[in-house]
Amino acid sequence: MNAFEKQDSFKHKGQRRMLVQELERKGIGDMRVLEAINKVPRHVFFESVFWEHAYEDRPFPIGEGQTITQPYTVAYQTELLEVEERHKVLEIGTGSGYQACILAELGARVFTVEIIESLYRNAERQIRSLGYSSVKTFLGDGSVGFIGEAPFDRILVTAAAPHIPKALVDQLKVGGCLVIPVGSRNRQQMIRVRKLAKNELQKEVLAPFIFVPLRGQEGWRS
Ligand code: SAH
Repeated sequence: MNAFEKQDSFKHKGQRRMLVQELERKGIGDMRVLEAINKVPRHVFFESVFWEHAYEDRPFPIGEGQTITQPYTVAYQTELLEVEERHKVLEIGTGSGYQACILAELGARVFTVEIIESLYRNAERQIRSLGYSSVKTFLGDGSVGFIGEAPFDRILVTAAAPHIPKALVDQLKVGGCLVIPVGSRNRQQMIRVRKLAKNELQKEVLAPFIFVPLRGQEGWRS
């Protein structure tokens, strides 16, 4: 039995299949994304007393005032990111570590940064226990990107940003894209920025969402 099987069960597999059907009904069409959601056990990112909520399509508290993102939102952002095998992907806002594992399932080499130490430690432990060796976790302020590993094929921000940090665009490869929720603290629009050439960007403003605030140098000052 591998690390995965030990933490999973028939009941949870069944609940995941139902969740995947729900996401399909809500408009997620990318089969690779749906398969990844079907594969990664979301309940292991919850404390066991809350397992019954793990396959509901909603965000859930993970401590420190933060949340594990709603499955629909994870699927939506992942679909927009158009991840390919071996892509180098930067995720800003590790949180539980769930989204990072979804990206790893798609074959990405994932670099994920979290600003809160206790969350970083929990996520690191959970990602290791599932055996995702292609995910590397870091503690720090991701609002300025991650210069040591740049450039990236894809950058995903999973917290609400007041603006698009220039550093993130700079750290994208030509042909790459950045997916980021931008707006006020209460409501954001999902934005996808494609870097078509060194000085040529294409920006798409998409659906509204509500994320926890991005902190740090390019985030919200509280
Ligand atoms: N992707 C996560 C969602 C976590 S919520 C998941 O799958 O569970 C957003 C996370 O971003 C929070 O954990 C928050 O602490 C973190 N965060 C906020 N500002 C940050 C910053 N500047 N750098 C890195 N992480 C940040």
